[in-house]
Amino acid sequence: MYTATVRRKKRYYAECWEELHMGVTKKFQIILDSRLCKGCGICAAFCPKGVFTRDDDGKPVISDDMVCIGCKMCELRCPDFAIRVTGGI
Ligand code: SF4
Ligand code: SF4
Repeated sequence: MYTATVRRKKRYYAECWEELHMGVTKKFQIILDSRLCKGCGICAAFCPKGVFTRDDDGKPVISDDMVCIGCKMCELRCPDFAIRVTGGI
């Protein structure tokens, strides 16, 4: 009885962890069209999670998309429609 309960709980926690892990790693995709981008840096400045660094021309480089929370500030603030964020709920 006790062992079965412990096993059930362990399985439950393992499933929760798996879901959380999937959420963190696969939730959002950032699509950046460098042909449209003029390198103003607005997206990098507004991103609350520091997803972007900038190259020598000032153009954004997606350096850590795992931390993206899908707020779409980059997409909404980009004056040239060069970024799209997909995924999430
Ligand atoms: S806001 Fe748009 S145009 Fe400006 S650097 Fe970012 S992607 Fe490029
Ligand atoms: S959606 Fe939000 S967190 Fe993700 S890259 Fe754009 S500004 Fe940053």
